[in-house]
Amino acid sequence: MRAVELIEKKRDGKELSEAEIRFFISGFVKGEVPDYQVSAFCMAVYFRGMSEAETGFLTRAMIASGDVLDLAGVPGPLVDKHSTGGVGDKISLVLAPIAAACGLRVPMMSGRSLGHTGGTLDKLESIPGYRTSLSLEHFRAALREVGFAMIGQSETVVPADRRMYALRDVTGTVESIPLITASIMSKKLAEGARSLVLDVKCGSGAFMGTLERAEELARSLVRAGRSLGRETVAVITDMNTPLGRAVGNFVEVKESIECLRGGGPQDLVDLTVRLGAWMLVLGGVARELGEAEGRCRGALADGSAWRLFLRNVELQGGDPLVCTDPGRGPRAAASRELRAGRSGFVRAVEARKIGVAALLLGAGRERAEDDVLPEAGIEILAMRGQEVRSGEALCVLHSKDSGRLDRAEALAAQAFDIGADRPSVPASLVLRELRDT
Ligand code: URA
Repeated sequence: MRAVELIEKKRDGKELSEAEIRFFISGFVKGEVPDYQVSAFCMAVYFRGMSEAETGFLTRAMIASGDVLDLAGVPGPLVDKHSTGGVGDKISLVLAPIAAACGLRVPMMSGRSLGHTGGTLDKLESIPGYRTSLSLEHFRAALREVGFAMIGQSETVVPADRRMYALRDVTGTVESIPLITASIMSKKLAEGARSLVLDVKCGSGAFMGTLERAEELARSLVRAGRSLGRETVAVITDMNTPLGRAVGNFVEVKESIECLRGGGPQDLVDLTVRLGAWMLVLGGVARELGEAEGRCRGALADGSAWRLFLRNVELQGGDPLVCTDPGRGPRAAASRELRAGRSGFVRAVEARKIGVAALLLGAGRERAEDDVLPEAGIEILAMRGQEVRSGEALCVLHSKDSGRLDRAEALAAQAFDIGADRPSVPASLVLRELRDT
C-alpha cells in the first residue's frame, strides 16, 4: 500500500477500506506519511466526502493513534460536551464547573483555535501558568477532586487529531462533515466520557453555514456516538452573532468569570444552562430538562460552580488571583475603540467577520506554527438589537501593536450592520435538539 494511491482513490470518489484508513493514519503519526500528503488527503475528503462506514473507520483509526484514558477509578457519571466551533464560544469554561457542581464528572478534552473560531485551550492558557497538558494521574486526581479537568490532544492521546487539526486549519479543509465528526468523536472517545452533548453551531460564524448542513453534521455525530456506544445528544445553535460580548482569549476568560460569579450576558448564560441541563439528564442526575436547568442555575447562584472553577485553575497550575481579580491578567499594549458611522439599530454583528478580526489581532493562528496572544481580542459594546448614536463606540479591539489593530479594524467595522429599523432578536439560540437520527 502507498499513501499516494489512497489519496488518488479518495480524489476519484472511491470508498476506502478500514485497513487503508488505518494504514494512512498510523503512517502519519509514525512520520512515514508526510504533512503534505495528509493535507492532500484532507482536501480529497473535503470534496468527495466519506460514507458512514469510512467516517467510523477514520474515527477508530484516530483513537488507535494513541492511548485511551482509563477513568475506571473515577466515581460518578462521566459526561462531556463539545462544540463544533464558534465565535465567542466560551461555554466550556462556564459549563464544566456547573456540571461538576451538580454531581457529574467532566473529562474535557478540547481544541485550539481553528480558522476564525476560538479554542478553549488557547483561552485557558491565557490564565498565567495554566497547563492543559496533564499526566494521566494528574488528570484523574483533578477529576476526582474537582469534578472536571480540561486538557488538549497530546502526543499520547489522539496525536493524529492534534496534528491533522493543525493542518486542516491552514489548508482550507476544516468544513468537512466526516473530518469534523472523526476529530470530535475520537477525542471524546479517548478521554473516557460515557455520554456526550454536542453543540453544533450553525450560521456565519460556524463551519456549517446553513441549518441543512448543521443537521447533516448533527446526524453524523449522533450516529457515530451510537456506533461507538456513547449516548449522544446534538443541540443545533445559532452562530450568526458572536456569543456574549467578548471574543478572543483572556477577554473570554473574564466574561466566563462574570457568568460564574452570577452575571454575564443572557445569551451565554441561557445556552450554557440548556447544554448543562442535557448533560445532567444524560448523566442520570436529573429526570427532565426543566429540573436540570433549575439545578444548573442554582450552581451559578450559590457560587458552587465558581468555587470549583477556582480550584481547577489552582490544580492545573494557573494563578487564581488573576481570576479573582482579572485586572491582574494579560493586558493589551494597544487598544482602539471602533465608532458607529451613523445612528440607528444594530441589525447584525456578523460572527465570521468578528472571528477573523480577532484572529488578525492575534487571538488565533494564520499559520500552524503561530503563537496566539493571550491579550488579543474584541469586546463588543453594541449588541444586536441595541440602539446606537453616530460616534458611539461599537467595540474595542485589543492587541500588542497598532499594526495589528489597523489590519483588524476595517473588518470589524464591516461586521456591524446599523439600520433604521429595530431588528427582532430571537429569544433562544437553540434551533433544534437531536437525540436520535
Ligand atoms: N472541533 C473539533 O474538535 N474538531 C473539528 O474538526 C472542528 C471542531
